Amino acid sequence: MAVPKRKTSPSRRGMRRSHHALRVEAHAECANCGELKRPHHVCGHCGFYDGREVAPAGDGLKGVIRT
Ligand SMILES: [Zn+2]
Repeated sequence: MAVPKRKTSPSRRGMRRSHHALRVEAHAECANCGELKRPHHVCGHCGFYDGREVAPAGDGLKGVIRT
């Protein structure tokens, strides 16, 4: 089994973990219902995009976007 020759120093460990922080996801208020939604995406709550309903609201939404 391959084994590291040296112990990882606190500095190296810190450099590796510098990319591990979680980022805040972009979000915006839906103009129709006011629910938070992702920008440039159909609202998952009311199914509206750009002022018109493009998908049925609620649970039916998932299948509509996929297919
Ligand atoms: Zn909405």
